[in-house]
Amino acid sequence: MKQNVYFMDKHKIVIIGSGPAGHTAAVYASRANLHPLMYEGFYSGAPGGQLMTTTDVENYPGFPDGISGPDLMLAMRGQSVRFGTKILTEDVKEVDLSKRPFVITGDKTDVQADAIIVATGASAKRLDVPGAEQYWQRGVTACAVCDGAMPLFRDQELFVIGGGDTAVEDALFLTKFAKKVHIIHRRGELRASKIMAKRALENPKIEIHWHHVLVSITGDQVVQAVNIENLNSGEIISKKGAGVFFAIGHKPNTDFLRGQVELNEFGYIHMPERFSTATTVKGVFAAGDVYDFKYRQAISAAGSGCRAALDCEKWLLEEGLI
Ligand SMILES: Cc1cc2nc3c(=O)[nH]c(=O)nc-3n(C[C@H](O)[C@H](O)[C@H](O)COP(=O)(O)OP(=O)(O)OC[C@H]3O[C@@H](n4cnc5c(N)ncnc54)[C@H](O)[C@@H]3O)c2cc1C
Repeated sequence: MKQNVYFMDKHKIVIIGSGPAGHTAAVYASRANLHPLMYEGFYSGAPGGQLMTTTDVENYPGFPDGISGPDLMLAMRGQSVRFGTKILTEDVKEVDLSKRPFVITGDKTDVQADAIIVATGASAKRLDVPGAEQYWQRGVTACAVCDGAMPLFRDQELFVIGGGDTAVEDALFLTKFAKKVHIIHRRGELRASKIMAKRALENPKIEIHWHHVLVSITGDQVVQAVNIENLNSGEIISKKGAGVFFAIGHKPNTDFLRGQVELNEFGYIHMPERFSTATTVKGVFAAGDVYDFKYRQAISAAGSGCRAALDCEKWLLEEGLI
């Protein structure tokens, strides 16, 4: 049964999502005395977001020795709470943006809000093959830019799974550290842009395994090898290597927004103005990977969380709501 305890309270700002974008928005909004309420998620993904699934974060400024992903997110959560953000550990199931105040329906609660900041991020797609779960963050990852420079991968043979722009960009990036980069691609040509494909084809450190799929990942404490299958012959071969990088796309967490706010063809929130975090619904703002399919970094997500909170505050002021 629902605990409609929050329903009677109309919140000025509700923040949906608790990654770097959501918590940065919360810090700015709470320091502006806007008393934000945050839905930090539960089944939708770990409260704290994608960084809860990683080990060392070495590119977030302020931590010269790096910091673990969970430690960074716990610190962000602590900062949000310190300034007065109220946090509900539940998912938002649906929103009604057709009326004011907006209505937000969670697993256990319903709330009303003058403004909403959506910061629900995106989930990196992974292949469900044997070893993928077991070696996650022990050689298997979904972010080459984040993890590629780690000692584990230096001067090693690495495998990038995919054939689009991300896969090719990841492979080119990894050649800076790796002995060799193998692209495992199920088709006979790359789906990446012509210029990127040409670079990959001409790079002596990259070998492309056309018409191949990843079958399994093996190792001891960390990844030691992969098994790949030739789709034409059915032959399965084993190749030694230390890293598997999934580059098969992301899924933005926007299912609960369908029909309420404009999304692009891939489900990312459409942002109509270049220098604003406003969405197509007035009073609804977006921050982080839920709209940003290009940069996908903690620092860029945090930066947009700051912008969303400032845009939101200005809008509330203009509307006479604060
Ligand atoms: C394995 C891995 C390693 C990475 N390493 C680095 C790194 O070293 N450095 C770096 O800069 N970036 C790294 N990244 C990328 C970085 O994690 C993301 O760019 C960043 O977390 C995006 O932040 P965000 O706040 O937009 O969303 P997310 O971190 O995705 O957080 C989204 C939040 O929304 C919540 N949510 C989703 N749906 C709902 C719902 N319906 N209701 C309520 N809550 C919901 C989720 O629970 C989650 O808390 C890594 C990513 C991965 C996957």
